[in-house]
Amino acid sequence: MLNARTHLFGLALLSLLSLGVWAAPLDLEDPELTAGYFQGDMDIEFTRNGEIASTRHWPNATVPYKIDEEFTEPYVAYIELGMRLIERVSCVRFVPATAQTLDYVFVTVSSSGCSSKVGYRGGEQTVKLKPAALDTGCFKLGTIQHELLHTLGFHHQQCAADRDEFVHILEENIQEGKEGNFLKYEVDRVSDFDVAYDYGSILHYSSKAFSVNGQPTIVALKPEGQLQMGQRLALSEADIKRLNTMYKCPLPL
Ligand SMILES: [Zn+2]
Repeated sequence: MLNARTHLFGLALLSLLSLGVWAAPLDLEDPELTAGYFQGDMDIEFTRNGEIASTRHWPNATVPYKIDEEFTEPYVAYIELGMRLIERVSCVRFVPATAQTLDYVFVTVSSSGCSSKVGYRGGEQTVKLKPAALDTGCFKLGTIQHELLHTLGFHHQQCAADRDEFVHILEENIQEGKEGNFLKYEVDRVSDFDVAYDYGSILHYSSKAFSVNGQPTIVALKPEGQLQMGQRLALSEADIKRLNTMYKCPLPL
């Protein structure tokens, strides 16, 4: 069973490689930044909720989901492939919601970028994705996984309580009214789950996020960080460790 699954994933990844998915360039117009929510793509009502709280984690590491019928089959398959890629590196499972399921994620169509609720909310909660050609915009596999990590309870990396040791925020280059996207959280609200700050996190903004003038809004204080920021190819090792710690996944054999 495991071998068959591994083989299937191998095939899926091979076909993605042949499509050039992993070599996709970063978009200048980032759909994560255009949804108009708190921190671009995080649709949250209570900004003081820290996702340290286990009540914000999905019970039994299981996320029931429904996908909007407006999405055609190739889009549904891509959304589910994003789910499978997260399952492959963790004990988190995404399962189709039934008519009786009360708490679930509804992946629905957006007209303005991509966004997600942060953490388990109860009832129906949404992930919104603006339709785009597969492997572009909200339909990059990395972006789908980025949004699903918000759903699972993660905020952006550059909002970590210790971020000032790793990045410098250049406020003079930030678009007016967008400064709130660069807020820093307090240590009692969010946890690093014992994994150090990671420039290569799939949850890190790019260097020029919300730039008003094309100049960087985020500069890495360590030289190796600058080129890593903003990647949307795959979960980093740090992303994977944090996810496994948050959801208390058993260590792989
Ligand atoms: Zn985000």
